[in-house]
Amino acid sequence: KSGFISIIGRPNVGKSTFLNRVIGQKIAIMSDKPQTTRNKIQGVLTLEDTQMVFIDTPGIHKPKHKLGDFMMKVAQNTLKEVDLILFMVNAEEGFGRGEEFILEKFETVNTPIFLVINKIDQIHPDELLPLIESYKEKYPFKEIVPISALEGNNVERLLEQIKVYL
Ligand code: GDP
Ligand code: MG
Repeated sequence: KSGFISIIGRPNVGKSTFLNRVIGQKIAIMSDKPQTTRNKIQGVLTLEDTQMVFIDTPGIHKPKHKLGDFMMKVAQNTLKEVDLILFMVNAEEGFGRGEEFILEKFETVNTPIFLVINKIDQIHPDELLPLIESYKEKYPFKEIVPISALEGNNVERLLEQIKVYL
């Protein structure tokens, strides 16, 4: 199996940390390049039976300049073409306007979307279930997966769930 995966989410939710954990240190440098309209391969994870190609999708946030609208269209087209979208949010901060904005962009996209709740090491375990319940109402996510990219909690399980969609 092989497939393309796009990780999207506001700055600082932990996208690079996640990629570093699953692929390795190299990609940190690549993913910190300034935005371009071109989609970049951020890293490739090769497992025994599966290959996952992670694609950077710049521009999927509120446009701040004229190029923004164009980049948004590029980003939306990319999201239509990948096999799976990982929408990453910060467990501590939850759904803000940035997230709502990205969710609106999903309306024209049929690609399966996982909600990845990152930084669960920063919240009390009792807070997690209510959080998951509140996210279920936002969008018909295929999976809602809590992780800690930093500490590695549940990351293996997320990879297993990704495999199912490739
Ligand atoms: P990106 O902008 O989405 O790529 O976010 P980064 O991967 O650069 O992470 C932003 C900050 O959040 C960094 O200081 C990370 O160390 C921190 N971070 C990322 N994942 C986690 C996590 O699971 N737990 C905690 N506590 N911090 C995290
Ligand atoms: Mg990053």
